[in-house]
Amino acid sequence: MTKNINDFLIFSNSKNFNYKTVNYSFESNSEADTELFAQTLAQILPLGTVITLDGDLGAGKTVFSRGFARGLNITEPISSPTFTIVQEYKLENYSKRSAWFFHLDLYRIDGYHAALAFGIEEFLNEPSAFTLIEWPVRIKELLKNNFLSIKITHINENSRLIILKFIDS
Ligand code: ADP
Ligand code: MG
Repeated sequence: MTKNINDFLIFSNSKNFNYKTVNYSFESNSEADTELFAQTLAQILPLGTVITLDGDLGAGKTVFSRGFARGLNITEPISSPTFTIVQEYKLENYSKRSAWFFHLDLYRIDGYHAALAFGIEEFLNEPSAFTLIEWPVRIKELLKNNFLSIKITHINENSRLIILKFIDS
């Protein structure tokens, strides 16, 4: 039986859930499912987590990003920073020190050299931020381990396969 958002919610709330070893997939059957998944993740991941987000055009990357931001209590409109590459949001009342949500879209970055010139390392090593990276394939040479990979693929008009896997080595 294919797992769905309710299975994920139960799993994420159980003591079996450890984001550092997670390897889970389920079917999202609506935009709301994908948004709730992202919102839930944002509430359980620790500050300092790097999340990569893969998916074709129309897969639901922006839907995911919006849900994730909502989970962090960001109320501003969210759109992928395709032209600006990075969008930074300060998190209010998240922790005693200042905390951030960095949303990167590397679509227009040619490769990891360009990403390094842009200053990507600062975003990959920031303990006070959640860093969400769209089009991580552009910097695959730099992403070796210690990040949470999320892949969204089309099943049909309203359904998506979501694969969640922590990459450790
Ligand atoms: P991307 O940013 O990956 O190009 P968007 O998030 O902008 O994609 O768009 C996804 C589109 O797919 C939206 O129009 C959304 O309503 C639709 N959709 C349908 N089913 C789903 C689902 N299960 N999860 C996410 N989006 C979905
Ligand atoms: Mg998008």
